[in-house]
Amino acid sequence: MKHFLLALVMAGVCAMAQAHETDNKGYVLVIHGGAGTILKKNMSAEKEAAIRAKLEEALRTGQAILDRGGEAVEAVVATIKVMENSPLFNAGKGAVFNHEGQNEMDASLMDGRDLNAGAVAGVTHVKNPITLAREVMTNSKHVMLSGKGAEEFAHTRDIEMVDPAYFRTEKRWNQLQKALKKDTVLLDHDQEQKFGTVGAAALDSHGNLAAGTSTGGMTNKRWNRIGDSPVIGAGTYADNNSCALSATGHGEFFIRAAVAHSVCALMEYKGLTLQQAADEIIMNKLVKMGGEGGIIAVDGKGNVSMTFNTEGMYRGYIKGHEKPVIGIYKE
Ligand code: ASP
Repeated sequence: MKHFLLALVMAGVCAMAQAHETDNKGYVLVIHGGAGTILKKNMSAEKEAAIRAKLEEALRTGQAILDRGGEAVEAVVATIKVMENSPLFNAGKGAVFNHEGQNEMDASLMDGRDLNAGAVAGVTHVKNPITLAREVMTNSKHVMLSGKGAEEFAHTRDIEMVDPAYFRTEKRWNQLQKALKKDTVLLDHDQEQKFGTVGAAALDSHGNLAAGTSTGGMTNKRWNRIGDSPVIGAGTYADNNSCALSATGHGEFFIRAAVAHSVCALMEYKGLTLQQAADEIIMNKLVKMGGEGGIIAVDGKGNVSMTFNTEGMYRGYIKGHEKPVIGIYKE
């Protein structure tokens, strides 16, 4: 009897250990904070340390959700919020200014399980545009809302709104003054301060994929210009049959090359690996077109790609309980 009881207890312990292992096994989170002319010689040690620390904080935030069996969509939103709340990146607080001196933001989110997606463009009072993209995805009949209408919808969904002054940083304001003087539209990373658009892609422990992107767009943009970030298939895509992906770079090129969907399509229809597909679109097609930027992505098997044709890309990934991997420059 004693032996029988012991065997029962042991079996229970083993089952628990196994369940724990299965629950947490195989999740992956990959992020970016913008790509561009990011050179070590132009970066102070403090700035680099601050960026690395924020990227790690973002990864750890998403990891905590994935580790307790949380969904890829939730991890992506929480991870992006950390970067939106940091003035280091061109999203949420610290977003770049448009020609009229406003911070006008775009974001998108996609769920690889059912191809459900939500996006917002040109919002000016939404503290975390990625949370509004999630509301569009889960609580509206639409995929993309813009401007005033998007903010009216935000009010109906209890989304946190702030005074536009919240987004202002002196660095971004000075960048706008320079751009106005030169009469140019600047990609965030064309400038001295090379902080950028943010994005995340995740594979959760249930085998589901999701991706999201959030940005302030380009300094001195006019006429309600919208880049690739909120465009499903250009800046963001997720499909359990292929991969989850977020892009950063010169949006006009990324829209025309349908970057995010093209990478997924090469995998699904042509059987390319994630890295082969990313190389084809980012290092071949975009380069030929003259489109600068990069992507971060994860596939259903947990393979990660962080591919860019610029000098650098703020990036990182974490797989289960392994140490996070964080990079800034080319090598
Ligand atoms: N892709 C963004 C845009 O064109 C900019 C960026 O990635 O920094 O709006």
